[in-house]
Amino acid sequence: MWTPEEIRRDFPILGETVNGRNLVYLDNAATTQMPEPVLEKMCAHYRHDHANVHRGIHTLSERSTEEMEQARCIIQEFIGAEYPEEIIFTSGATDSINLLARSLSFGLLKPGDEILTTEMEHHANLIPWQEVARRCKAKLRIAPITASGDLDYGSFQQMLTAKTRLVAVTGVSNVTGTVNDLSAIIRQAHMHGAWVLVDASQMMRHQVINVKALDCDFLCFSGHKMMGPTGTGVLYGKKALLEQLPPDRFGGGMVDEVRLKRASYGDLPYRLEAGTPNIAGIIGLGAAAWYLSGLGIEEIAKREKLLLTTAEAALRQRASVTILGEPQKRAGCISFNVQDGHCFDVARLLDQLGIAVRSGHHCAQPLLRAFGLDGAVRISPAFYNTTEEIIQTMDALDRCIRVFGKAAKR
Ligand code: PMP
Repeated sequence: MWTPEEIRRDFPILGETVNGRNLVYLDNAATTQMPEPVLEKMCAHYRHDHANVHRGIHTLSERSTEEMEQARCIIQEFIGAEYPEEIIFTSGATDSINLLARSLSFGLLKPGDEILTTEMEHHANLIPWQEVARRCKAKLRIAPITASGDLDYGSFQQMLTAKTRLVAVTGVSNVTGTVNDLSAIIRQAHMHGAWVLVDASQMMRHQVINVKALDCDFLCFSGHKMMGPTGTGVLYGKKALLEQLPPDRFGGGMVDEVRLKRASYGDLPYRLEAGTPNIAGIIGLGAAAWYLSGLGIEEIAKREKLLLTTAEAALRQRASVTILGEPQKRAGCISFNVQDGHCFDVARLLDQLGIAVRSGHHCAQPLLRAFGLDGAVRISPAFYNTTEEIIQTMDALDRCIRVFGKAAKR
């Protein structure tokens, strides 16, 4: 079994110094770092195989195509999809949701249809639905959260009706770390004949995902939150549903036959992947999924849970710290505010001490507003972090608390 010390050797960036201190990277809910095998895989592609995919009958093009399609199969296995063509490569979760939203707006959503989402969504899983609802004259309904930061399941159930066409819900909140009961949500949505899109952006690293067992209709995530490169992501969809989706973008790579005034489109997955894909990135994403599988998602979950509960316990001991929410189950991150200190100032002070945390509204303004806030500090440990780093962060936080306390008294 691996130790964090061993694993850290895989991540060259963790050896960086920031403001003269060893970097403590606790912003993994925003972007995770890439291990050597991912970096090497992408470098090797650029050094030895780089060429466009699917188009050329020459060796490098064939090698590139093979590597990219292998990545598709790795991702298929990683999320337990039935077919590789159920994996549509995108530039990230935002792109995946926009693809689905735009595509549904091409005739699949009718006036009066309802889209149900929640108050805890990242803007990426909210604004596309606002736009689509407006364009299609559909109704957007928002299930509220409770004071503890959990989904209000009673209201959610009440808002599900025969008119609900789609439920768009996050698996884990990127602010409170609330873990949603996806199985219950999906079961109930299906009872009303609605499709379910799961935003799995905050789940991929530490939750075993099996889309078949989950029975979600669509699922999306970004590569850069699971040890892969930025500019990569996936939209998974059940094959029969993806086949119904009209392409949302048009051009090379997605066609069957093109005439001057009309065109017919190819098969999945290519019909939803117009243009040259992010080939090296996708290959890197495949390597990242491979790497995570090698470490074991369950083991990763165990390590990250320990780090998160250590952080939560330490935050609770500090009287001037207010934690956002007390969800039944928390994973990945925890957000808080410090009395007398603005979240930006806390993050800036921590950065001076070499500690990287995120602060602000975390692209979830409605959720922050539900807590009566416009910002918070977020800590999101990954399996390469150590308990010592959490302790160091708490010591640094104490310094912030002292500084802000003194300033408030002046
Ligand atoms: N959904 C959630 C829950 C997220 O945390 C994020 C990223 N913070 C996104 C969607 C959007 O991801 P990206 O910016 O990589 O498209």
